[in-house]
Amino acid sequence: MALRLVMLGPPGAGKGTQARRLQEEYGSPQISTGDMLRDAVEADTELGRQAAHAMQNGGLVSDDVVIGIVAERLRELKRVKGDGGFILDGFPRTAAQAKALDTLLAGRGEQLDAVIAITVPRERLIERLAGRLVCRQCGAMYHKKFDPPPPDGRCGRCGGRLYQREDDREISVSHRLEVYARETAPLIDYYRQAGVLREVDGDGARDEVLGRIRTGLA
Ligand SMILES: [Zn+2]
Repeated sequence: MALRLVMLGPPGAGKGTQARRLQEEYGSPQISTGDMLRDAVEADTELGRQAAHAMQNGGLVSDDVVIGIVAERLRELKRVKGDGGFILDGFPRTAAQAKALDTLLAGRGEQLDAVIAITVPRERLIERLAGRLVCRQCGAMYHKKFDPPPPDGRCGRCGGRLYQREDDREISVSHRLEVYARETAPLIDYYRQAGVLREVDGDGARDEVLGRIRTGLA
């Protein structure tokens, strides 16, 4: 089954993890915007050069460029895989991008099968993100509560010192969640009105959440 999915979810909701699980299960490739932009820049396509220019100047890559890159990638996937399935992760971010995606798909005679919005209570997200620790030396990730480091508080792999990233401090996490909620509210509304939104409770073990997504897709 060629699934055409969009995955939405706040930082810490496990969106990327679930997208990979769905890729394994349904065979539709996960397309993350970050990877896609990096690939386009590396391949030095016209759109890649425009994206690189925006990023070098500290600006945001414009909607037109992002949509152009998504269109290129979807064309390429269809050429290679034929069935036209995909799992978009990190795109669209705005209602304008969502409309552009719909237009793009309509031009291919396709439409989205579903938009999975993973929801997790704010306190749980803060607990997940603000508990993360990273090894300075090898980059290994730990979690104060869910995946604690060895008792000496050093990295279990290399003995390096662990630290909390600036982004993962509670105040930064709160801010990231607020920005996400504000930016995606119109997007969620857009997909709800289109009748493709499937809200999935992301509070629980990975397999449980995957089961709920499967139910949502059935
Ligand atoms: Zn380490």
